[in-house]
Amino acid sequence: MNIGKEVLQLLKEEITEVEYKRYIKQLDYDLKNSTSDLAIFYAPNALISNWIKSKYTDKIAYLFEIKTGSKVTVQITLKNLLNRRKTKKIQKEIIPHSLLNPSHTFDNFMVGGSNQFAYAAVKSVCDKAGETYNPLFIYGGVGLGKTHLMQAAGNVFQNQGKIVIYTTSEQLLNDFIRHLRNQSMERFQKKYRQCDVLLIDDIQFLSGKDSIQEEFFHTFEALRNSGKQIILTADKHPKKIGGLEARLQSRFEWGLVADIQPPELETKIAIIEKKCEINKVKLSKDIINYIATVIESNVREIEGILSKLHAYSQLMHVDIDLAFTKNVLKDQIQEKQKDLTLDTITQFVAKNLNIKPSEIKSKGRSRNIVYARRIAIYLCRDLTQNTMPQLALYFGMKDHTAISHTLKKINSLMENDEDFNIKIKELTNKITSS
Ligand code: ADP
Ligand code: MG
Repeated sequence: MNIGKEVLQLLKEEITEVEYKRYIKQLDYDLKNSTSDLAIFYAPNALISNWIKSKYTDKIAYLFEIKTGSKVTVQITLKNLLNRRKTKKIQKEIIPHSLLNPSHTFDNFMVGGSNQFAYAAVKSVCDKAGETYNPLFIYGGVGLGKTHLMQAAGNVFQNQGKIVIYTTSEQLLNDFIRHLRNQSMERFQKKYRQCDVLLIDDIQFLSGKDSIQEEFFHTFEALRNSGKQIILTADKHPKKIGGLEARLQSRFEWGLVADIQPPELETKIAIIEKKCEINKVKLSKDIINYIATVIESNVREIEGILSKLHAYSQLMHVDIDLAFTKNVLKDQIQEKQKDLTLDTITQFVAKNLNIKPSEIKSKGRSRNIVYARRIAIYLCRDLTQNTMPQLALYFGMKDHTAISHTLKKINSLMENDEDFNIKIKELTNKITSS
């Protein structure tokens, strides 16, 4: 039995055909030297190896764990020296395409209030490369889609036959150091100045690295002066990066600076639906809503969750329903909910609905108090481990049947009253991501 092959087959189900053919299919499993806690794969070249390391090792390790029941370290190694020559050849051929993720397209990018501006800016740059916003600088928190948007532009340009270089600023720095060491700076300059479009991801890592900043400044000028498009991303606005040469910082703002904010609930739902479509996972609406409220803002978590659900359901031969989803995501949720107490929830609801916490816990019958109390009770039940008698005590109710009665009422409201339902989702979302 070749367990490595089987795991890669499982992975195949979860990714696009292009990704599979381009990367995963190139891997060979080392049956002889792998052990029960070490899985060794060979990649034909450094590009594929790096790409798989950065994107798939966790997934592969995870699938191993599911298959074998034990934790496995995944090692991606280059094919041995004998194959070096062959490798070099492949590497050369693969450079122009290798680092753009083919599924990072505009079609796969869901637009909402949080990312609309950045999306429009990138689209506009695609229509008029080098003419309008040059450079285009996109910034925002982790997992909000900066790399995706930047690569979507890269894919468009590449399909137009343009030479696109996509690199992270760390890779750029490594490349710079390598050429410096080999005294081949001319080649470095030529490489980056010959492209039509330069995409540099996470530029904040150049902070404090003076010599590369100096070199990059000249590349930047050369490209910009010849109308070549530059797109940059960072986790902060150029002004806030710090450790940047003043002339670079000011040039980063010359074109357009666009931010991406954490997605709203509706955008998260749209993103999950899209990821389900891409990964061929079928989920009902309530599960999608549930996942959208569980994940905070980092969209990257969505893919992990989907593959976890998919793998579990396949291996255990069960359909994915809400109870199953909750169970699979238990660790994730507990992690986030551990700090929530009855007091913090009540104070949070009171603040958001503009009433006093003491009113929520009172016996008041006015409409807004009853409304807030129901929401608080629902959140306390859903987000903490308190039992019904404990909740009854806290909310000053007679006993657990009173709480149970209230919860039934809330459930029926959630089914029949759209506004109430939305409010609960919104507050759940807000409190779990704060
Ligand atoms: P960042 O570079 O900002 O850290 P990424 O671009 O790597 O984030 O996005 C993380 C993951 O979330 C990727 O799989 C990406 O496809 C996905 N993603 C983020 N935003 C969206 C969106 N609006 N629509 C679809 N997928 C998205
Ligand atoms: Mg990124």
